[in-house]
Amino acid sequence: MKPRAEDVNDITGRLISILNNREPDVRSQEETEIFEEGDRMPDESVILMADDLTPSETVWLDKSGILAFVTHRGSVHSHAAILARSMNIPAITGIDIREEWDGKMAVVDGYTGEVTIDPDSEYLEKMTAKMRADGKKQELLRELKGKETVTKGGKKIHLYTNISSVKDVDSVLENDGEGIGLLRSEFLYLESEGFPTEQQLFLAYKTVAEKMNGKKVIVRTLDIGADKQADYLGLEKEDNPAMGYRAVRICLNRPEMFKTQLRAILRASVYGNISVMFPMIISVQEVRECKRILAEAKKELAAEGIACKDVETGVMIETPAAVWISEELAREVDFFSIGTNDLTQYTLAIDRQNAKLDHIRDTHHPAILRSIQMVVENGHKSGVWVGICGELAADTSLTKMFLDMGIDELSVSPSFLLPVRDAVRRLE
Ligand code: PEP
Ligand code: MG
Repeated sequence: MKPRAEDVNDITGRLISILNNREPDVRSQEETEIFEEGDRMPDESVILMADDLTPSETVWLDKSGILAFVTHRGSVHSHAAILARSMNIPAITGIDIREEWDGKMAVVDGYTGEVTIDPDSEYLEKMTAKMRADGKKQELLRELKGKETVTKGGKKIHLYTNISSVKDVDSVLENDGEGIGLLRSEFLYLESEGFPTEQQLFLAYKTVAEKMNGKKVIVRTLDIGADKQADYLGLEKEDNPAMGYRAVRICLNRPEMFKTQLRAILRASVYGNISVMFPMIISVQEVRECKRILAEAKKELAAEGIACKDVETGVMIETPAAVWISEELAREVDFFSIGTNDLTQYTLAIDRQNAKLDHIRDTHHPAILRSIQMVVENGHKSGVWVGICGELAADTSLTKMFLDMGIDELSVSPSFLLPVRDAVRRLE
């Protein structure tokens, strides 16, 4: 009955929204709590202040008038912040100014993480000048469109993009992404009110593949669970969700659900250059099981006379276990993509959602950098290419180190594409 109880909650929330003349735009009663009764998204542009934003709330919100997100909870590595980044919306986490703020004018500086309520005219002038200077910088970066991501000495690297939805492809093309290094496919599930059908998934992947016109598109299979919840999945609440039932752990337990996604990916493969990548891997057996179900899906399609291509397969290296067995994993796949967000969380034992730990979340920790080096070496030994798709890929203070390590690909949010290309092109 537990999953049904969540359905009842969801329906209750929706009914209350409708009776209050509000769009039922969020998914469950629990999630509607960020809105006060009777609140609607105002017509003018706003800064959205909340205690917290779950990934599904971020997906469901009407973002057209949102200038910035400011939340009390969450950290720079939480999915809501990553989503905001991919939508080019400044987001600041870990501050609580709900009392003082309430309707006043405010300035959010996404570069410094400062929020200034009721700014005086001098400050406003200073910030307007900063915005103008930033606009000029963006203009200069736009001159790098169409240019290669290559160092002065001729060393090339693939520069791909992370996206969460079909809509994001426009900003990939606008910022000259050379491919999609991470399609976080779970957001198609979060946007949906029930299990998406094979046809719905197929159409989404096909659109992305076609729009990318032959450029690489790496679809990461469903990484749901932990902070990414959809009521219809009926997942139980867990004490330690980040270390719990998520990603391939769910997919391998529900092979039919997994196969539906894999069939959709395979069907879409004929419309472009699609690869498939499995998240949260900790063992060779898991990879073999994922590949077995992929092969089964392919066989089924062939028997039904439906065309599909051979797709490259890869795994995310985002657990310390995967780092340590990368030599064995490399014999199973075509590529590795290092997920530094989770790898940092699990290696340093620092919850990526917890803003209180931001001061000790050392993303340049030697344990992380050595892990990356080890994965590159083990990957290359077996002819496997190695990329980074975690947020660290966009850290331009490490670009030189990544190239020296032999990283083959960096995958970043669309707005970081040109800054990273700029950093690469400045290297000797
Ligand atoms: C990662 O963990 O670095 C990653 C890219 O995956 P996600 O942020 O979606 O967990
Ligand atoms: Mg991850």
